[in-house]
Amino acid sequence: MPVNGLPPYDTNNIFARILRGEIPCKKVLETEYALAFHDIAPQAPTHILIIPKGAYVSASDFNTQASPEEMAGLWRAVAEVAKPLEATGYRIICNMGVDAGQEVPHFHVHVLGGRPLGVMVAKPA
Ligand code: 5GP
Repeated sequence: MPVNGLPPYDTNNIFARILRGEIPCKKVLETEYALAFHDIAPQAPTHILIIPKGAYVSASDFNTQASPEEMAGLWRAVAEVAKPLEATGYRIICNMGVDAGQEVPHFHVHVLGGRPLGVMVAKPA
């Protein structure tokens, strides 16, 4: 069910619970500012989620409210996670709000790769 990607932040969303260690994840990387883990329902051979440790509900929230250090920390983590895919390429996706189908109201970046990923956006039915 898509969520509204605008505040307020729900402290019990699934990624907040993963950050608190209440729910397990297959961790790929953890830094001061970010956590990366495998998506539970991968859409490609590599499908990793990178989330900020701060409480940001969506891309809009993160991009306007996060500090420069948090922003750099998040995107450096994305770069590190994606590095093994550089030879063949990868796709970065951030879904924000209802039209994009955002499901989890904690900002996250998808890194997908390991096969040709096809069209960027589905054509209207
Ligand atoms: P969104 O549609 O919000 O951009 O993507 C949310 C992603 O989170 C989906 O790809 C979904 O498979 C993933 N996801 C949802 N719940 C869990 C979970 O409990 N653990 C992990 N690792 N991924 C999850």
